[in-house]
Amino acid sequence: MPRQTIRKQSEDWELIPNLLDYDAARRNFSWEHERELLDGMPGGGLNIAHEAVDRHAAGDRCEHLALRWLDRSGEATDFSYGDLSRLTNRFANVLRNLGVKKGERVFALSERIPPLYITALGTLKNGSVFCPLFSAFGPEPLHSRLSIGEAKVLVTTESLYRRKVAALRDSLPHLQHVLLVRDSAQEKHPDDTLDFQQLLDAAADEFPVCNTNPEDPALLHFTSGTTGKPKGAIHVHEAVVAHHASARLALDLHPQDVFWCTADPGWVTGTSYGIIAPLTIGATMIVDRQEFEPERWYGILRDHMVSVWYTAPTAVRMMMKHGAELARKFQLPALRFMASVGEPLNPEAVLWGEEAFELPFHDNWWQTETGGIMIANFASMDIRPGSMGKPLPGIEATVVRRREDGSVELIEDADREGELALKRGWPSMFRGYLHEEERYRACFSGDWYLTGDLARRDEDGYFWFVGRADDVIKSSGHLIGPFEVESALMEHPAVAEAAAIGVPDPIAGEVVKAFVSLKPAHQPSEALRTELLALARRRLGPAVAPRQIEIHDNLPRTRSGKIMRRLLKARELGLPEGDTSTLESRE
Ligand code: AMP
Repeated sequence: MPRQTIRKQSEDWELIPNLLDYDAARRNFSWEHERELLDGMPGGGLNIAHEAVDRHAAGDRCEHLALRWLDRSGEATDFSYGDLSRLTNRFANVLRNLGVKKGERVFALSERIPPLYITALGTLKNGSVFCPLFSAFGPEPLHSRLSIGEAKVLVTTESLYRRKVAALRDSLPHLQHVLLVRDSAQEKHPDDTLDFQQLLDAAADEFPVCNTNPEDPALLHFTSGTTGKPKGAIHVHEAVVAHHASARLALDLHPQDVFWCTADPGWVTGTSYGIIAPLTIGATMIVDRQEFEPERWYGILRDHMVSVWYTAPTAVRMMMKHGAELARKFQLPALRFMASVGEPLNPEAVLWGEEAFELPFHDNWWQTETGGIMIANFASMDIRPGSMGKPLPGIEATVVRRREDGSVELIEDADREGELALKRGWPSMFRGYLHEEERYRACFSGDWYLTGDLARRDEDGYFWFVGRADDVIKSSGHLIGPFEVESALMEHPAVAEAAAIGVPDPIAGEVVKAFVSLKPAHQPSEALRTELLALARRRLGPAVAPRQIEIHDNLPRTRSGKIMRRLLKARELGLPEGDTSTLESRE
């Protein structure tokens, strides 16, 4: 079958791409060389915040615009590299004055406002571990993450604290300090909290950045699996080598670029590429406080001369809904590269980019555990719409089949499906799941890290996403563990069992749908269904809660008692039910 290809021609380039020839770049690549492009610390140390901020602030990029923040009205506040260096020094001093040590975990729960960025980088300067939380989480996901992560410090806003955290405080024994960012001038902070701004104002401008070892933990990112609690993926300072390399090679970032990553730092993309990577390059990054709104977004691209834009399929689909004509009304001469991540990017969306912006979207693939982009469509490489692209230089990717004994068979044939696997050893590979050694070990077979995604590779080495090998749900680019949803529903006294699956949605990719069965003496009713929807939304927050709930007499289980989510999904989608030989007979 002939494949559609978008050809790249050198006369189209406004700037010579950092990666000009894919094969040559792979051949000549070494992580040692990438490491040399960074500063490092005395004696072989490495600190992400030094590479992102201080090395520029100490040089001729001190006055260069590092961060332009847009408030709700669209008004800009600018921070140069020098400003960012001083403010993050101050926050590091705040932590030190509070007695927060190297390796201790500092969490942030906040909308996209400057204190979030100051917290992230100041925490790294102090050698502490930064852990972002998504502001649309409800109390349940927040509690599990704060307690698994043994948060010592939480930076949040007054209103998020009152709405979501205050009631949890007694059950978080490790949480010693809560620093609140004021939402309005009148409010008086609750007694057991501190004022973020007051502490920052009182702190000194100078701070000797902690000389962290490359293998010291720096970031903790929670992700979800099919079963069990959320997993805290640990990343180390060495990850910055991959952040920098992938920003150069996969996003084609240059120091003169204005870069806009639309992801929220509550998720890994918003930290790796919404904070760290563009700063390591010395570029200018745009942060918008508001959520998607097409005219606002196109206005930002135009008014702030965004040259490289990193967004997500859900956002692209929302833009498509509003039509290419609207986008074409905005003159965007600065825009030269557009990329997308987080979910499958349909070929129509890649092509729509050309229609609306005269540029294609470049899909790329990675996940929380990989810490940085692993597979990408590069600026200089022909695009096959619908494909995730090719592995980055320094990354070896393949497709495997798991054998019963835990080993893997490499699938060499083109176009055969299998699990996507990566050869271990790249700098931003996660170094563990916090307190869960067994779950970490289960991700590897010999030298291969098994991603949990199904993919195939074509005869020219392009990778194509097929689906997930497990039951996790991707909704609006956010990974949701079914177990977390089911546990919240099980809290209701009427619920006997619960199962959550993802069902297709034209904009969000998937939305969560839950099935429950009731305990004896409880009858299904519309009122109960609505009550369950409301409970889930209250406990889990809008990012995680199911949009639909169905009440069934009982749910299909295997004879060993596991609910068969796959069967529910097959029935929901009208697909073949597959092997049901282990199905319990009462179903
Ligand atoms: P997260 O760890 O939350 O970043 O989610 C990672 C998962 O998102 C991957 O394992 C994939 O299932 C999915 N994903 C990320 N990027 C892509 C992509 N370009 N195409 C298809 N799925 C993707």
